[in-house]
Amino acid sequence: MVRQKLQTCTTCGAHGLSTTCIKCGQPAQAAAPLKWSPDDHQASRRRQRHSVESKEWVESLPQAIQEASLEEE
Ligand SMILES: [Zn+2]
Repeated sequence: MVRQKLQTCTTCGAHGLSTTCIKCGQPAQAAAPLKWSPDDHQASRRRQRHSVESKEWVESLPQAIQEASLEEE
């Protein structure tokens, strides 16, 4: 693969940028890309980490109402 530079040794599992392992000299091939899904499987965990829907979270959101009131003056 051309676009992926990270290589994994087929023998010892060491990571490197060369197609030959720097540790044991065996051939290395492109490391598998990270799994990605359009469905956000971690969304509920991330919401929990940011305590979404708590009062602090609501107050941290950008306020568009303040700009609208400035235009009226
Ligand atoms: Zn190796």
